[in-house]
Amino acid sequence: MTGCAITHCRSYDSTIIHDAIKEIIRNTDFPDVKGKTVLLKPNILSDNIPEKAITTHPAVVKEIGRIIREMGAGRIIIGDSPGMQTGPFRPKLSGMIEAAAEIGAEIADFRNNPRMHERDGFRFPVASIIDTSDVVISIAKFKTHQLMYATGAVKNMFGLIPGLNKSPMHLKARTPESFARFLMAVYKESHTDYAFIDAVDGMEGPGPANGTKRHIGLLMGSANSYALDKAEAIIMGYGSVPLIREAERIDKSITECSYPLLSPDQLVISDFRRIPEGRKTTVRSLFLPNLMSFFGIKHDTRPYPEFNPERCRRCLKCVEICPAKALELKDGMIHIRKNACIHCYCCHEMCPFDAINIK
Ligand code: SF4
Ligand code: SF4
Repeated sequence: MTGCAITHCRSYDSTIIHDAIKEIIRNTDFPDVKGKTVLLKPNILSDNIPEKAITTHPAVVKEIGRIIREMGAGRIIIGDSPGMQTGPFRPKLSGMIEAAAEIGAEIADFRNNPRMHERDGFRFPVASIIDTSDVVISIAKFKTHQLMYATGAVKNMFGLIPGLNKSPMHLKARTPESFARFLMAVYKESHTDYAFIDAVDGMEGPGPANGTKRHIGLLMGSANSYALDKAEAIIMGYGSVPLIREAERIDKSITECSYPLLSPDQLVISDFRRIPEGRKTTVRSLFLPNLMSFFGIKHDTRPYPEFNPERCRRCLKCVEICPAKALELKDGMIHIRKNACIHCYCCHEMCPFDAINIK
């Protein structure tokens, strides 16, 4: 059974982070990195300062880099590809450029020659750096997610799909369950060897970009990303999340895990602001969808994005990212065609001015 190590880590002080990572590595099956090319994949959803808790903290990436250097790693590469990436990847604000320089790592541009992959009925481009990396380490961030409820180690590997190639994937996998299966396909193609979750500071409320920072005080690691994500979901107070349900539907043992340090059951944050789960089962919700689909009418009880005209700066990032082309600027306001919207929440995730609510 794989071990999932969870330890207290109260700040991003380099010594504290270093000790916590070493403790995690000692208590889990960490891959042999000696002489290997290692890809570190943090979550850099968009280039933001670490204090916003949108991105993996550079101190965590730096200390993992230092430790694997001590363990004899050869080439170290750091990379990610934000959803709106169009130019070269230089995430200055996130602190990742400095972190890379300090550990002698290279920054990869995932847009260079991506290769098409096919898995489990999905076809998608993946950064070719994966083909030349011997060891792949996911370094995710402890955050809520409007569509998937939580974003962790498995979903972090979605970033291997370069830039604007990501959002159209929502058209092929429109429900949280099918999107979970798609994420699992990408994850399998990534050949991830190990995963960490930076949960020193996490995000609650409407994540993954516009929620609120919350101090969690934990660092987590495992060779089993599904088990790690399950532990994260438990700590957030979810019974389960679509990704874990889909993984367990295929093979229950995927998420089986021992906890050599702290157990997630003892760490549940009772007042953590989660994304409201699922639909309420009422007579109306049982009856209405069947009736509407009988007449060929689209029915979905998931909420639609709402646009706040006071906050909106008309940057049009939401219009650009929307895979369903459901948004347009009309009379100086963003308008949504509800019958086109597929509830992927890419617009909410990419809005840099927190002008979109999902209620
Ligand atoms: S991304 Fe946000 S700020 Fe930009 S146009 Fe859309 S709603 Fe307005
Ligand atoms: S409007 Fe927003 S939630 Fe709806 S399909 Fe477009 S990006 Fe997705």
